[in-house]
Order: sequence, then C-alpha cells, then structure tokens
Amino acid sequence: MKKSIIFLILLLPLLILSCSSSNDDEINQLQLQIIELENQKIQQELDELRKEKAEEQATLESEAKVANEEKIKAEAESRIAKEKQEKAEAKAAKENKEKAEAKALSAKSAKEKAEAEAEAKAAKEKQEKAEAEAKAAKEKQEKAEAADLSVRKLFAIQNTIDTNIENCDSLFSNSKKIDAKDFFIGLDAKLRDTHAIGKYSFVSFEGDIARNGPFATWVYEMLIEYSKKYNPGKFEKIKFADIEITLDDYLEYKNKLCDTYQNQKFNGTLRQLMIDINVLLKFRTDWPGHASKWLPFPYIDTGPKVIKSPSPKGLEFYTKYITGGGVIIVSGPEVDDGALLQGRKSVIYMTSKIPELRKILQDNEVRISVFTGTAGSLPEYPGNTEPGGFAMGMTDASMTANADWLCRPGNYDRGGDPVIHELVHTINHVVFEQINEIYFYERIYKIAENSINKGIFDTGYSQNLEKGQTQNMSHFVGEFWAMTVEGYMMDKSNFKNPPYDRRHKIKKIDPELYDLITRYFPTKQWDFCE
Ligand SMILES: [Zn+2]
Repeated sequence: MKKSIIFLILLLPLLILSCSSSNDDEINQLQLQIIELENQKIQQELDELRKEKAEEQATLESEAKVANEEKIKAEAESRIAKEKQEKAEAKAAKENKEKAEAKALSAKSAKEKAEAEAEAKAAKEKQEKAEAEAKAAKEKQEKAEAADLSVRKLFAIQNTIDTNIENCDSLFSNSKKIDAKDFFIGLDAKLRDTHAIGKYSFVSFEGDIARNGPFATWVYEMLIEYSKKYNPGKFEKIKFADIEITLDDYLEYKNKLCDTYQNQKFNGTLRQLMIDINVLLKFRTDWPGHASKWLPFPYIDTGPKVIKSPSPKGLEFYTKYITGGGVIIVSGPEVDDGALLQGRKSVIYMTSKIPELRKILQDNEVRISVFTGTAGSLPEYPGNTEPGGFAMGMTDASMTANADWLCRPGNYDRGGDPVIHELVHTINHVVFEQINEIYFYERIYKIAENSINKGIFDTGYSQNLEKGQTQNMSHFVGEFWAMTVEGYMMDKSNFKNPPYDRRHKIKKIDPELYDLITRYFPTKQWDFCE
C-alpha cells in the first residue's frame, strides 16, 4: 500500500499535463474531480496510514513501555538478585570466616591440648623420676642404716615375717589407756623385775647370784600380759632417765610383739623380740657384743667344707665360714680350717639326740666366733681378755671359742673344749629359755649343790672372772652343768675334772646328773679328737 501511494503522488503532474486537449474544461473538471477523489483517497489512505502509524507508534511505545517496564523490572530483579547474591556471598563469606576462625580456634585448642598433655606427661615423668629418686634415697638410707649397725630395723629387713596386726587385736584392743610416760616407766620396771626373778637361781653366801630360769619366756609372757592391760595411746615422744621413745619406736616394738605372738604357734624364736625390748628400754645394750649392733650372717649349708665367709658389713674380719647342726662357725684367716671342722663335728654330735634343737639354734642365729689369743681379737668384743671362750645369750651376737684349745687331728690338746662347753651354756640360754624347759631348771642346781657339798665336783679349777670377783659357790653351781656335760662329751680321761671326765663314772657316781645329760645329749660313742 505504501509503495502504490508514493507511486500515484509521483504520477499526478504527468496526468495533468497529458489531459489538456478537447473538452478541456469538462475533462479538466473530471480530472479535478478524479484528482480530488484521488486526493481524498490519498488523504484517507494517509490518514489510515497516519492512524496505522500512530497505532503502530502506540504499539511500539506501548511495547517499548512494557519493554522498559520489563527492563526496569528485570533490572530491579537483577538488582535484588545481585543484592541477594551479595548477601548470600557475604553470609557465606561470614560463615566461612567464622568457620575458619572456629577451625583456627579448634586448631589453637588442639595445640593447647597437645601442650597441656605434653606438660602433664612431663609432670608425670618428673613425678616418677622424683619417686624413683626418693626410693633410691630411701634404699640408700636403709643401706646406710644397716651399715651403721645401729639398727633393730635391719632385723626387720632381713627377717621379714608376714604380719597381720588384725590377728593381734586380742593383745591390744581391750587394754586401758594410761599416760604414755607412765606406760613405759611401768614396762621398764616390769622388764627389770622379770630378769631378777630368782625362782631357779642360786645365791651364794657372798650374795653372788648364779642365774637360772627361762628368762626369755618370762619376759615374753610379761610383755603379752602388760599389752593386754595397758596402752600408751597416741604420743609423740616420751623421755625418762636416759631413755627416749618415739611413737614409731613403740609401733615397731608392738609389731614385733605381734609377730612373735603369732609365731609361738610354731615355736618361733623369741630372739628378735628380746633384742627389740632391750633396745627400746636400753636394757643391757651397752656392751659391744649386743646383737642389735651387728648384722646377722646368712645361713648357708656348707657340708664339711670351710668356705669363704659371706660376712655382713662390719664383720669382714671373718673370712672363713662353715655350718652344721643349725650353727654358723666363723673365723679370721689366722685360724686353720681344722679348728672350724672340729667345731662343726662337735655341734653335729651334740645335737644328734634331739635334731629339733638345730632348728631352734638356727632360728636364733647361733654363731661361734673362733679366735686365737683372746676374744678381744674379734671385732664384736674389743678389749675382751677371755682366753677360752664365752657363751651366747639370747640377745648376743655370738659365742666364742679359742681355736688352740680345740683338740683335733694335728692339735692334740688335753683339757677342755670351749666349743662344747660354751655350746652347753648357749643351748641353756637360747633353747631352754625359749622352750621353757622347766624340767631342767627345777633339777640342775640341786644336783650341782649336792655334788659340790659331797665333794664330788672338784672346785679347785681356775676360772676367768670379772675384775674384783672371787670364785665362790655361785660360780661352781653356775659352771657345774657346762663342765660336767663337757667331760661327758669328750669322754677322755683327765680331759676334764674327774670323775666327770668319763661317762661310765658319771653314771655311777651321779646318776641323776647322768639322766639329765642323756635327756638332751647322745649316748652313742663318737671319735672325739680323732
Ligand atoms: Zn662356763
């Protein structure tokens, strides 16, 4: 349509020029009418075109508007989306940041935890080290104390006994609590009184006493009875006279009493308790040979062979060692092996009638220290002038015997035998006191008195006595048992005081004594000194 309109507009002047011939006016008129019609049509078409265009424009504008609105809307949406995205990104970033921070924090806390653990580990190691050091120090101290020889503790260390104090409740629980100082003063008085019991002892005209009796059993029974009656409660330390006692000292003693009480069912040794109570109350501990001052030797079965001595600290003097019949025999290097072998032979023979004696001797750590010269040459007895030997009491370190006085192959020695003689005393002190051998205590001094009074027992012998003492009836009575058993054992003419030098003579002139001797000692012949 648009092309045709434009074409008509361009043709109009040519049409006008070509129609000016005949009937010009009419034609012209007609032509004018046509033109007018044409114009009207053109106008109409133009109007339509204009309208169309306007509509088109309006449509376009409307479309543009819509497009614009859509654009605005899209832009708005885009903006919102952008904001939303930014917001989301910001949130994510924030979260990431927080997450990262949390992670960092957790890493930090992990680090801190690791550090704390490392510290705890280090602390634990430090503590363990400190404990190990403390333990080592304690062991060192215990060793030093043992080396010090000061020590009842060493007996506890070396002779550990299972202690269940619970089982000893009956000993202590019903006792009456009294003032601690009064408790120990009372205990001290009881101890001294018990050792002074004269029931089986002999008192000479001069007032000298030949002690006799189961003193260790009596002391033990007294301690049990006293513990059932009284207790000192809790205290820190008490002092009276030259004695000082701490609560620990008391508890240690109480444990020892409990141990001993429980072991009595098995004829257990009283030695450790006797040592302990002596030390607690400083009773007869002032002499160097008290057992509390020396470590015990271990008991090793040697058979008939002298070995290198396993001497404890402080007793390295002893280099030779042999055991037999529950007894340890030791000496320094100057004593020949034959003396130790002869000593062992005597112990085994003497304990052959009642082999149970051997266990009691061993439990009580009976030891024979063999010497040459005087007993003062031994480390336990400095300054001692005894030439023959002396016995071992229940709280002593050892008994002693002069090697040169021991008759044996290669050393034919007439006279007494100090191993046999002192072992008779020792069995009396250690074994009879522990087993409460009343049968013996009731008889021996009466038999001795009868023999001396009848002039059978020769009192013309000399004896090594303490300075200022003179020999009297108490000494004869006190020595009678050891001397007559010594003669019985050797069974050699004139080796001891006749008629107590031969078994057949003893049986004939003193049958009561013969019965008492053979109650404990063998009748079987042996080859003494051969
Ligand atoms: Zn004697």
